[in-house]
Amino acid sequence: MNILISSCLLGEEVRYDGKSSSSSIKNKELFLKIINEFNVFSICPELSGGLTTPRAPAEIIKEKVITTNGLDVTYMFNQGALNTLSYCKKNSIKIAILKSNSPSCGNNKIYDGTFNSVLKEGEGVTVKLLRQNGIKVFNENELEQFCDLIKSNLK
Ligand code: SF4
Repeated sequence: MNILISSCLLGEEVRYDGKSSSSSIKNKELFLKIINEFNVFSICPELSGGLTTPRAPAEIIKEKVITTNGLDVTYMFNQGALNTLSYCKKNSIKIAILKSNSPSCGNNKIYDGTFNSVLKEGEGVTVKLLRQNGIKVFNENELEQFCDLIKSNLK
């Protein structure tokens, strides 16, 4: 089965701060098992949309994505989401494990737009588009739920 994983969770240093997100995975053993068991495809939506590393951190403010220095990067975030969706369609991917809390990849919480490290309920730009197209999205600390869904689909 083909699955999608955020590049930064796979150790790629693509985050805004030039680092990876490997350290945010709590159950590394299960993560490695999943990587070995599935056909893994990866993407960083923000780089795919035209942004570079390092870059200014951005948060979703109403319908826009704005960086800490006030730059409107909505177009790049939307482009990254569209590229991620076509990558999933091209590779028949129906399920993904994406980095929590990101304005692109966050699946149930995002920062609240104040740049004060406050989380609120919400989803990133890419996650929203993937879900609208029937793709299930888990984060790096919902690996058990990911496995449960796979198991129930195999019954
Ligand atoms: Fe990681 Fe997604 Fe942010 Fe890229 S856009 S650095 S893959 S969380």
